[in-house]
Amino acid sequence: MSDKFKAILISRDEDKKQSVEITELGLSDLMEGDVTIRVEATTVNYKDGLAITGKGPVVRRWPMVPGIDLAGTVTESQSQDFSPGDKVLLNGFGVGEAHWGGYAGMARLNSDWLIKLPKNISPLQAMGVGTAGYTAMLCVMALERYGITPDKGPVIVTGANGGVGSVAIAILSKLGYHVIASTGRPDETDYLENLGAAEIINRSELSDPGRPLGKERWAAGIDAVGSHTLVNLLAQTKYGGAVAACGLAQGFDLPATVMPFILRGIALLGVDSVMASKQLREQAWSRIESDLDMAKLETITTTIGFDDLIDAARDIVEGKIKGRVVADMT
Ligand code: NDP
Repeated sequence: MSDKFKAILISRDEDKKQSVEITELGLSDLMEGDVTIRVEATTVNYKDGLAITGKGPVVRRWPMVPGIDLAGTVTESQSQDFSPGDKVLLNGFGVGEAHWGGYAGMARLNSDWLIKLPKNISPLQAMGVGTAGYTAMLCVMALERYGITPDKGPVIVTGANGGVGSVAIAILSKLGYHVIASTGRPDETDYLENLGAAEIINRSELSDPGRPLGKERWAAGIDAVGSHTLVNLLAQTKYGGAVAACGLAQGFDLPATVMPFILRGIALLGVDSVMASKQLREQAWSRIESDLDMAKLETITTTIGFDDLIDAARDIVEGKIKGRVVADMT
């Protein structure tokens, strides 16, 4: 059997001009690591879009095989934790940024970054979830740790049609929360209601500068948007509530006042998926197995082939993607 496989490679010339190509690599080309994996599925995250288009400083080593998420089967292992034949999953840890990632037929990775694929989740389903969905679960867990239960009141989710937002809505509704979806695409009402949104508001209600404190509308929030949207979320959260912040689709600024914190005891909970501990990842994936309806996941997932990855990565940066895009690499 040939050890050659297809890969996407991002390169830079002497003038730092970036180019992207589909190429063929061999196992000996791969970077160092103690586990080699046949990639069966990968996905398109916003960060992959930034890497491929060069619109954000994601790539930190050249040339780079992008792809921050992958799922597949171990073919070789020097680690005691994994054996050939094991189904594994990788999210983040700088893969696709500083270490060659999932947009290739094979990957060689550090075993500390890998977790075993949950028993009832296939590689394609895991990539349907991807970093976006796993981050949504980390946000739900952050709210739970803060004591936000369904009886406390509604939870607002911003960037509702995006990957984080769609999965957050599906999980929260399954757990019994009353979910308010904030979106700039109100024509997607059916899609959001099918996921479990009980109310839908237009994101324009939240995207401009607002008052330091507003009417108390929700007990908690999951925010993928940042900037004025996050500030308005905090200003309209009920006394003692919390907002989990994970994204910056509107902007990375936070033009806020301290009023929600000091007059209503609101908590701002930061959520990072990239360097999250293995223990937290395993908890999150176990919760995804129990608390995400895989039939709903299917309704938000579009499956593409390896050759479509570059176009899909460009589309996500242009806001043309709804839900999650998965690449079947088999
Ligand atoms: P997507 O591109 O799939 O979704 C983002 C959504 O945000 C869009 O679908 C849109 O939803 C909304 N949006 C886009 N532009 C704006 C704007 N200018 N103002 C307000 N809303 C806007 O991305 P993901 O869901 O994958 O990721 C969401 C964010 O979370 C990104 O910023 C990403 O970088 C971040 N992220 C962070 C992680 C972490 O570890 N902290 C991990 C994963 C993602 P709609 O059309 O419904 O309004």
